[in-house]
Order: sequence, then C-alpha cells, then structure tokens
Amino acid sequence: MMGAEGRLVVVSNRLPVAVEREGDGWSVRPGSGGLVTAMAPILRGRGGVWIGWPGASGAPEIGRFLRQAGAEAGYDLRGVPLTAEEERHFYIGFCNEILWPLFHDLLDRCNMDPIYWETYRAVNGKYAGVLRESMSPGDMIWVHDYHLMAVAREFREQGGGEHPLSFFLHIPFPPPDIFLKLPWRAPILEDLLRYDLIGFQTERDRRNFTHCLHAVLRAAAIRGKGRVISAEHGGRTTRLGVFPIGIDYDYFDRESRTDEVASRAWEIHSNLPKRQIILGVDRLDYTKGIPHRLQAFRAALLKHPELIQRVTLVQIVVPSREDVPEYRALKTEIDRLVGEINGQFTQHGWVPIQYMFRSLTRDQLLGYYRTAEIALITPLKDGMNLVAKEYCACSIEENAVLILSEFAGAAAQLGGGALLVNPYDREAAADAIVRAFHMSPEERRTRMRRLRRACQKQDIFWWIDAILRAAVAKELHEFLADG
Ligand code: UDP
Repeated sequence: MMGAEGRLVVVSNRLPVAVEREGDGWSVRPGSGGLVTAMAPILRGRGGVWIGWPGASGAPEIGRFLRQAGAEAGYDLRGVPLTAEEERHFYIGFCNEILWPLFHDLLDRCNMDPIYWETYRAVNGKYAGVLRESMSPGDMIWVHDYHLMAVAREFREQGGGEHPLSFFLHIPFPPPDIFLKLPWRAPILEDLLRYDLIGFQTERDRRNFTHCLHAVLRAAAIRGKGRVISAEHGGRTTRLGVFPIGIDYDYFDRESRTDEVASRAWEIHSNLPKRQIILGVDRLDYTKGIPHRLQAFRAALLKHPELIQRVTLVQIVVPSREDVPEYRALKTEIDRLVGEINGQFTQHGWVPIQYMFRSLTRDQLLGYYRTAEIALITPLKDGMNLVAKEYCACSIEENAVLILSEFAGAAAQLGGGALLVNPYDREAAADAIVRAFHMSPEERRTRMRRLRRACQKQDIFWWIDAILRAAVAKELHEFLADG
C-alpha cells in the first residue's frame, strides 16, 4: 500500500480509533461517527492514511497498536504524539478555550493566553511533520477543522513544497466584529490562505471569512461567485467553497424501518401514552443552548396550559469534556433547571421533562428519532447540527415537526421545512413549541417530506464528492475504484 500514488491522506485532531486504558493494559476501539464511516471505503479502496492524535499519550508501544488497528481498518494510521503540556496548551487551551467559544460567537468564554498560541503553531508543526513523512506525490491531502488551521503553513515552511492541500472547517466562522478581537487574527488568516482549498459549512461562514479577510488583510482580493470562489493574497490563490456536511441518509432511513427500532419506538411511546414527545439530543456543550431551551419549554407550559399532561420533553445530554470546569458548571445548571421545572409542573402520572445524561445505543437513539413528534434543536450557534438531519431521515412516518435554531448551519438547507427560531427569544421558541404541537398531520407531512428530500439530496457522499471534485477534479467513484 505504501508508496502508491493518488491516495487520500486525512489529517484530523484525533485518529478514528480510541486508545484507552483497560485494567493494567491498553485497548484500541475503532471510531464510529459519520465522517469515519463515510471516509473508510475511500481510504480502503485506494489505500490511504489517517493522521491524528491517538489520545493516550502514555500508552507504550502505541505504534504497534496503531499498526494492528490500521490492518483491521484497511488503511494506515499514523499517530501524532502530544505531551501532557501540549495537550493542555494546544487542545484544552487554544482549541477549547479560544477557538471553540470565539468561533461560536461567545467571546466572554475565551481565555486569550499567549502561551496557547505558541503551542498551537508548534503542535500544528508536529502534524505537518508526520504528514510529510507519510505522503507520496499525487496524494490528496485533506486536513480537518479548527485544530489544524496552521498545518499548510508549517508544511510549506518545513520544505513540503507546493503540494496542494485542502482544509474543511466543521465549525462556524465568526463575523468580523468577533473575529477581530482575536490577538492572532492576521497570522491565522494568513495561515489559512496557505491552503489551496478551504471548505465552509454555509454561505454565512464563507461570507464572514471574506469580510474578515477584507478587514484584516486589506490586499486580499476575492473573485468569482457560486459554490467555489477564490481569494488572492501574496501571489497565491486559495479557493473558498461552501460544502454543507450531510449524513448517510439511506442508512438512517433503512435502520429506522427495522424491527429493533420499531419495537424501541413502540416501547417509548407506550410509556408515554397519548402524549407528544418533544426531543432534544445534544452533547453537553454551552453552544447547544440547553438552558435556553428548558426555559422556553417552561414558558410554553406557563402560557399554554393545554400542553399540561399532553407533552413530554425528552432531553438527552451526551457527556462531553467533563474535565473542563465550564462544562461541569453547565451540567449543574441543567440539573437545577430540570429539577425546578419538574418540581413546578409534575402531576400524578405526568413528569414534564425526562432527562438522560448519558449516550444511547444506536437503536435507542433511532427509536427516539422515529417516534418523537417534535424535535427541539436550538443551538445558540452550530457549524451544522447532524442531529437535525438524522431526525428527519428517521421520521419515516412523516408525522413530525422540526423546530430548528436559525443559527445552526443546517438552517440554510432545512429552513424551508422546519420552524426556525431564535434560541435567545424565549417567547418565540415557546410559541414554536405550541405551533408544532397543534400542527395538522397534512402540514407536518408536507414539511417533513421537504426536509427529508433536502437531507437525502445532499448526503455525506454528495459532500465528499463535491469536495473531491473541487480539490482534485476527481469524483468519489474514482477513489472507490481499485488501482
Ligand atoms: N450521538 C451519539 N450518541 C448519542 C447521541 C448522539 O453518537 O447518544 C451522535 C448523533 O448521532 C450525531 C452526533 O452525535 O451524529 C452529534 O453531532 P452534531 O453535529 O449534532 O453535534 P456535535 O456533537 O458534533 O457538536
């Protein structure tokens, strides 16, 4: 496999495997999730490499683990080892305390410590070094997300040459008012322009990016229109594309028709008879707007007593980043609000909020997607929000309403069928809940068909194909073919 040309080389913060401590030893679990599932056939078909942090810096013989896991996966895995200090300053520091909140417009949550920036660039240099050792001429290099915005520059400065490099930003890009507060605004934009192609989730993100270019790097010129435009700066051209990430629609549609999921769905609803289920599914994260949503639900119950006994909010919160104090504080706030609202409204035989703080199995999650009459997905800001698309793909009976934040990337594609809300507007969100509750089956069907079509048309394979075409003028099937 090594030395072959025209392979796909993926670089992301984490490898698609988890190396974890197990008793006295270590174990390797393959990763799941949409990106890994979609990329795996391409990586296997042509031979490929995935470069990333294996997660467990302390594991001895990590190389052997990765070779073994790579042999099972069908493509090479290359680890980028990080020291404990790098993990603290790069991952927890620059990525989670600066870029994540800033790019989600939450400036107050940023901790602009200069040490983080130095480590960010140094760690990006480490990824670039492993990339240089792992690639061959003719490979397509695809770097993912905000952790690795400086890999192209580091790669070129280490003598990697002008080999084309593509980058995709999974999270939003903030507007100039916010981005200009970043002490490292100019170098970050310059670093990004060392890529040949940058993909954004939405037009909004790309527009924010070009506005920031104009404001910070005045000499940059933007040309063209349509899905891919270009930016010229310092004698280089970088193409800027809009590629909203999708889901494996057929998988969700197919799986939600299985007997296992049907019986889950039946079980869930038989425990909540004659009630509409309102579903929230989020990772524990302050960008998801969970407290705002709980307040909106309370406002709906207060203003519309006809909802009492007739709706149940099922809120699933998947644990995440629990070692970060801010996330622990958020958990406490959610626990408190759920307790308060349930304390205020619970009646004999009815508890308004069913709250789960854990991750679900696939069948359980799909059971909820399939059976919930209403999904309440109200992030304060979100790159895309795949839960919204998965909910639509699983709503095979089409008797379902999607309430979606206008600040989720998904709103650009799903705005036609969803009820869009401003998550900061508690009254409006409460009104949307009431409207969804009363919505006729006909209107639900019309809207849900539209939503399902949108998710099906631009699915995960469409997304990869669009990026491959823009990056190397090749189509997905050419990567899947042997040879
Ligand atoms: N998810 C999961 N386990 C659960 C609940 C959700 O794996 O118990 C998945 C869900 O299917 C979706 C992902 O987590 O694919 C969340 O993606 P999204 O884009 O909505 O948000 P993110 O967490 O990436 O910010």
